[in-house]
Amino acid sequence: MQRLREAIVLVLLAIWSKAASARPYWWPSKTASAASGYCLSWRMAVEANNIRAWRTVPAQCSGHVEAYMVGGQYERDLSVIVDSICSYIDTITLSDDGLDAWILDVDDTCISNLFYYRTKRYGCEPFDPVGFKAWAVSGRCSAVPDVLRLFVKLIGTGFKVFLVTGRDEETLGQATLHNLEAQGFFGYERLILRTGVFKGQSAIAYKSAVRKQLAEEGYRIWGNVGDQWSDLQGEYVGNRTFKLPNPMYFIP
Ligand SMILES: [Mg+2]
Repeated sequence: MQRLREAIVLVLLAIWSKAASARPYWWPSKTASAASGYCLSWRMAVEANNIRAWRTVPAQCSGHVEAYMVGGQYERDLSVIVDSICSYIDTITLSDDGLDAWILDVDDTCISNLFYYRTKRYGCEPFDPVGFKAWAVSGRCSAVPDVLRLFVKLIGTGFKVFLVTGRDEETLGQATLHNLEAQGFFGYERLILRTGVFKGQSAIAYKSAVRKQLAEEGYRIWGNVGDQWSDLQGEYVGNRTFKLPNPMYFIP
């Protein structure tokens, strides 16, 4: 009887052990979670500027970047960042000389090119200038979630808002004005596009020169917001810089 009981216990233990080692059908496989874990690490390294000068999103991360951009997390991240910027704005006392300034980048800071990059598998395929121009001219862009809220607050608070973009003035000037207007960006001080003298210069050099010019005009740059590190590096970067997420492309 004792042996029979021991045998039953052993059989039950064997069954339990087999069941415990089997994965439920909804549990991600080790291979799938390793791939998505890599893509999350890659995206975090990109956002922290630890990986630089990358040309395209790793092919295996297309689905990860798509899920991030359109699945709700991108919007949640933007909302937290914009809330933080608004808290900072509330600490600033503006002067009455009209020289309190704020800088916003344009692409994927004010206006979203997400649907252009959808055609590029969310950055797995490289940027093409001809296709991008057609996209900009088509006016099918949208506002970046939450940034219009920030823009309206900046204007309402009395900041002079400068929109500084690496877009070429000659080929994209008109389209950019229309893109901004269509998405509700009114009342900014100046839209500054890349002119011929800055052609071929890095974004860091070009945007530094623009900010230097503003500083020489007497403006105090309280804040600077962009989706690229090159929007926020170099000279005269501003009192505070804020990096918006963008795992789809890198601009040096
Ligand atoms: Mg940008």
